[in-house]
Amino acid sequence: MKREEVFARDGHRCVYCGEVFAADELTIDHVQPRVRGGDRSGGNLVTACGGCNVLKGHRRLADFLRATPSAYANFRRYARHVWPRHLRVLEDEIGQ
Ligand SMILES: [Zn+2]
Repeated sequence: MKREEVFARDGHRCVYCGEVFAADELTIDHVQPRVRGGDRSGGNLVTACGGCNVLKGHRRLADFLRATPSAYANFRRYARHVWPRHLRVLEDEIGQ
């Protein structure tokens, strides 16, 4: 799935802070990192703003969401297109 398609699907809204941004302020985030076998299908890609991407840094998504409850709440509200199997892994790891 192309970046612009992901942004359009998510309404240009960052799934971590919940705010809407212009396309040039947005990035694509992989729920399951590519190095861990994650692909570029729509169910593995979410829209993230540059600020949240920096905040997340190189942490694994589950570690970032566990440490940032507001981001986890927004993720559960807005990341509606993520594959259920990825969501189950996150919920298991975060334990909420
Ligand atoms: Zn954000």
